[in-house]
Amino acid sequence: MSSENSADVLIIGGGAAGCSVAMQLALRKLRVIVLERASLGSGSTGRAAGLVGQLRSNSRETLLLKKGLEVVQNLEAQSDTKLFEKTGSLHVASTESRAEEIRAFVKMGKSIDFEIDLVDSAEASRLLPCMKTDDLIEIAYCPSDGHFQPAELLAAYVKTARKEGAVFKINTPFEKPIIQGGRIQGVHAGGQNYYAPVVVNAAGPWSSLVGRKTETSVPTATLGHFYLIARPIDGIPIGSHDAAIRDRGNRIYTRPEVGGILIGTYEAEPIEYDMEKFPPDFDMPNMKPERDSLNVAMLIDNASKRFPFINERTPMTVTHGIMTFTPDGFPLCGPADELEGLFHCTGFCGRGVFQSTCIGLVMADLITKGSTEYDIDHIISNRFKNDQSLINPETVQVKCRERYSGHYGVWKK
Ligand SMILES: Cc1cc2nc3c(=O)[nH]c(=O)nc-3n(C[C@H](O)[C@H](O)[C@H](O)COP(=O)(O)OP(=O)(O)OC[C@H]3O[C@@H](n4cnc5c(N)ncnc54)[C@H](O)[C@@H]3O)c2cc1C
Repeated sequence: MSSENSADVLIIGGGAAGCSVAMQLALRKLRVIVLERASLGSGSTGRAAGLVGQLRSNSRETLLLKKGLEVVQNLEAQSDTKLFEKTGSLHVASTESRAEEIRAFVKMGKSIDFEIDLVDSAEASRLLPCMKTDDLIEIAYCPSDGHFQPAELLAAYVKTARKEGAVFKINTPFEKPIIQGGRIQGVHAGGQNYYAPVVVNAAGPWSSLVGRKTETSVPTATLGHFYLIARPIDGIPIGSHDAAIRDRGNRIYTRPEVGGILIGTYEAEPIEYDMEKFPPDFDMPNMKPERDSLNVAMLIDNASKRFPFINERTPMTVTHGIMTFTPDGFPLCGPADELEGLFHCTGFCGRGVFQSTCIGLVMADLITKGSTEYDIDHIISNRFKNDQSLINPETVQVKCRERYSGHYGVWKK
């Protein structure tokens, strides 16, 4: 066995999740090899909008994400690079049920010392002048939110991990596990054997295929997602530090982007993909959305409800990518029940770039200590093991699709 091909931990997938885990393990002095099918960031990470919204319907999740921002601040200090654009974010409501939801968010946020407050529409207009506000009945402001450029965050993970000795092998697809004595001992990837007592499945939308080859359960579905970037428009001032918004009623999120605005939507009927049908050299950044597709039409329609200057003739680019959803909307992180030594780290349900910041810490704890100080019951990978309904792959797909289309469903406390 060549020592070049052996490590303490092998990570399948060089997206935000795999690279963050690699960095945290390398910082703990473990020898790490990341095996990437194509190039680093060529999966969902390369498509992400990079929004950083800490407020979640689940206070445990908000606390984890707050921790994630600290990780980024440390990375910025160590690398002397600015990664995070702090713009603040607004949550807006135009119906009573949504207003109630926002008040509940504010109450929950305050109970865990998360910076959030109600603001009036004059203040919201000051924070994001191009937004229509005349129908809003409740607005909350989270000043510590903002966004990353996903490629820059990924590059910072990789640079730090490499400095600590981690090795990144690109064009090296995982093919099959090496199993001996009932536990994983390594993998066959890119025509070679790699050995380690721990293997992490961080293959994003492909992670259920890794699950199939390792005979472990990865209940996920891979669903299309679109956002548009409207270029700067005469007479519509958009500052690079204008606030982001979540308008759950209209199913949209936004953030400023070089004088224009990025607007994404969680539509009711997402496109479903079978990752097995893509060719081995499939590159997600090359996905080209059809401008006249129903999903793009829905995106423009949803966007125009809050930003009436957006219509089909607005100069814009549309980005299309694939997200990995789970049946309950939370990721799958932790040891695989069925195969000792294998860990899953996937299923980020549209939030994986930001979640990667804290998930790296959680995974490094689980791998090195078998436990973590963070409250992770809601994301632990084996939480579905007693759910008999999920034995049926069709049910998994249906539940994941419902999660996607209900992403901005009304939150009930
Ligand atoms: C359009 C769009 C907008 C988004 N916006 C946001 C946002 O604003 N904020 C946010 O936080 N998240 C956002 N996301 C979600 C985010 O992109 C994902 O949750 C995140 O990138 C997941 O990271 P990952 O590392 O799990 O997966 P990926 O980035 O997909 O990485 C998995 C990697 O595994 C590799 N791989 C697959 N199979 C193999 C194999 N057999 N062998 C070796 N390597 C393999 C792939 O090539 C890939 O590089 C968005 C996603 C999309 C599509």
